[in-house]
Amino acid sequence: MAGEGTPPRPRRYIGRPMTLGNMRQNGVRLIAVYCLGRRCDHQAVLDVNHLPDEIEVPTLGPRMVCTACGLIGADVRPDWGDGRRSS
Ligand SMILES: [Zn+2]
Repeated sequence: MAGEGTPPRPRRYIGRPMTLGNMRQNGVRLIAVYCLGRRCDHQAVLDVNHLPDEIEVPTLGPRMVCTACGLIGADVRPDWGDGRRSS
């Protein structure tokens, strides 16, 4: 984690997938997980502190299992909303 100036602002989802390391550099430590089940709409926020920096956020999606409907595979995004709160 060498401080190399200010990280660029997070943009919309274009280009290279964001990694957990990128996410943390932006002050986000949680991911938001959205179930892809049509009638489900379950969502959850997960702490990914235990996962290594090089993991790409989208690769987590297929591993997620919905606790509401049991569907495997979800949409995973950095949880900007909560993570960006500072002090
Ligand atoms: Zn679900």
